[in-house]
Amino acid sequence: RSLDAIAQTDPKINAVTHVAAEAALATADDVDRRRAAGQPLGALAGVPIAIKDLICTTDMPTTCASRMLRDFVPPYDATVIRKLRDADAVLIGKTNMDEFAMGASNETSAYGPTRNPWNHDRIPGGSSGGSAATVAAGQVPASLGSDTGGSIRQPASHCGITGLKPTYGRVSRYGLVAFASSLDQIGPMAWSAEDVALLLETIAGYEPRDSTSLDTPVPEYSKAIQSADLRGIKIGVLRDGLEQDGLDESVRKSVTEAMQVFIDLGAEIVDVQLPHSQYWVPTYYVIAPCEASSNLSRYDGAHYGHRSDADIDPADGPLLSMYRHSRQEGFGSEVKRRIMIGTYALSTGYYDAYYNKALKVRRLIRGDYDAAFQQADLLLGPTAPTSAFALGDKLDDPIQMYLCDLYTVGANLAGIPAISIPAGLDDSGLPIGVQLQAPALEESRLLFAAAAFQ
Ligand code: GLN
Repeated sequence: RSLDAIAQTDPKINAVTHVAAEAALATADDVDRRRAAGQPLGALAGVPIAIKDLICTTDMPTTCASRMLRDFVPPYDATVIRKLRDADAVLIGKTNMDEFAMGASNETSAYGPTRNPWNHDRIPGGSSGGSAATVAAGQVPASLGSDTGGSIRQPASHCGITGLKPTYGRVSRYGLVAFASSLDQIGPMAWSAEDVALLLETIAGYEPRDSTSLDTPVPEYSKAIQSADLRGIKIGVLRDGLEQDGLDESVRKSVTEAMQVFIDLGAEIVDVQLPHSQYWVPTYYVIAPCEASSNLSRYDGAHYGHRSDADIDPADGPLLSMYRHSRQEGFGSEVKRRIMIGTYALSTGYYDAYYNKALKVRRLIRGDYDAAFQQADLLLGPTAPTSAFALGDKLDDPIQMYLCDLYTVGANLAGIPAISIPAGLDDSGLPIGVQLQAPALEESRLLFAAAAFQ
């Protein structure tokens, strides 16, 4: 049924970059056979899951929606893929995204933009826009995305689904193509908190080959969500955040209404401060490009990825010439912009002024959250400043595009978990999400509150 839905709807929305029809049918048949024989099956037996195209899969390409990796098929599976296969999930294909996960609209993809299933003239959000759209269009019940500065939550919000960015290290990054290694996390996207919980339970856990993965037991998230009683829970709201320029009235209204729903469920709303929140976006846009420029230096045309066959520039010689042309042809303009910013900020003489300073501010931002979580169990606020905007609207204005991340990058800088949950529609019928954030490793709390809200 997923394959039919993709065939029917994908020509309009362009959410899927690769369909693994044969392998998916083989897995589904195998599950059916084992079910009929009464054999034990995994928790996701027969469930079709779509995978953001920056997670390594041995039987499908992994292109990061970049010309640079157009034909790349990785020699190993990411840990999350191995876990999904072990749980008997059906891996249906790979999803469209912003190139190397840099963007908030899915428009920087080498495959062309994904369109929002709710309105095809609107962006689906990014960078996991394909993963959000494929669920929202009913192609698959769930998908995996990655979130470095909001890339799971913001598209989830724009497409009216639920998306969770786990605590840094909760899900292994082994086999995730790195954008900004200290911020990246893989996470689940689906309609409901229940489905997100089940998927998180499957993909979370320690991986010895990933030194940043956390060696702590994985709770049974799907059990944590069973009670809807929020009595005694304190939910912090950042009043300043609701006064911020650029926050759409419809989003402000959704957050206010969500506060009332939580009060009706028995929670108490408290005011909190995150005094350095105005520095989230500038800090993120130093740290993320710095790490990206370092991570992306491996695409030189020599080891793997696109290799240019352009003529040698005599001034550069054969090697430099190949590097230069391969990178020039392989990367799109947003990726090049990030590499230039990062290289500049990491260079001698500027390192202390930019990168080191950003790391210090990051510590202050973490401290803000520690203090806020002394007063509140969860924080509630917007996911994105607006609902989905029109294609092309912000493509030529990087600063406007970066401001889409106003509410999401804080959780990445602090390493804490956060979820976006659907919270109604705006006047033009487009979905709006609200965001909950929790202290590190408190995904259960997020899911429990999200399930009660839904
Ligand atoms: N929009 C942000 C960026 O462009 C976040 C991307 C992400 O989380 N991968 O960097």
